[in-house]
Amino acid sequence: MKTCIVTGGSSGIGLSIVKAFIDKGYRVCNLDLTDGGVGEFYQCDVTEHQSVHNVISNIAKQSAIDVLVSNAGIHFSANIEDTSPDDLQKVFDINVKGAYSAVQSVLPIMKRENKGAIIIMASDQALIAKQNSFAYNLSKAALASMAKTTALDYAAFNIRANAVCPGTIETPLYHNAINAYCQRSGADKSAVHQEEASLQPLNRLGQPEEVAALVTFLASDEASFITGSLQVIDGGYTAQ
Ligand code: NAD
Repeated sequence: MKTCIVTGGSSGIGLSIVKAFIDKGYRVCNLDLTDGGVGEFYQCDVTEHQSVHNVISNIAKQSAIDVLVSNAGIHFSANIEDTSPDDLQKVFDINVKGAYSAVQSVLPIMKRENKGAIIIMASDQALIAKQNSFAYNLSKAALASMAKTTALDYAAFNIRANAVCPGTIETPLYHNAINAYCQRSGADKSAVHQEEASLQPLNRLGQPEEVAALVTFLASDEASFITGSLQVIDGGYTAQ
């Protein structure tokens, strides 16, 4: 049985990814703050480097690790002036340093097996900027570079690393971001939601299951020549 580690697998896109890998017959280990109830749960804050390292090392004592999906992330809605150093630090600690800790921890294990697939959850905001997303935009651009850099440094070990760049996907993170925007601006939530959908060429938001299908494909042998890539899944948003 193949083993897949997912960070942030208790909600939204991560939860769909956990379910999709279970459907494909994987043992799935979910590292999150709280249990989402699907897969093997490991209580782990990705900002705590040693904790991430210890959990992944313990999982590796039982089996090789075939796939890592570094997915845990938060959004923070503000422009640069309204982003404090602490705000910036928090977003980077979770989104960037958390991914660094997970990727760094699986690499020695994957190197031993001379194979592995790493998928890093970036965003369309790795490719384009969106308003009032200063810290988030920066963090996702950094993750795109993390995927490319890892792909180059570990290609010799048959380890593939790719970034997935979703557009607007209907998850708790999306709803929290809309709520924050509405609180700040006084806008009506259902109107903002409608407008968001109409901004997408496919005229709807994406669903977490659609992202999970791309992630399981990237982890599979069918994607054996895909590495160092940024895979956009955004209903056509960045094509405009
Ligand atoms: P979500 O809020 O529904 O889920 C995020 C998960 O990460 C939660 O289970 C949460 O507990 C976990 N998490 C947060 N901080 C953590 C920490 N310190 N340690 C461990 N786990 C932690 O969000 P989502 O929309 O499913 O987003 C998942 C990923 O997809 C994020 O990286 C996000 O930036 C990215 N993304 C989301 C969208 C979107 O529109 N929803 C678009 C592009 C990219």
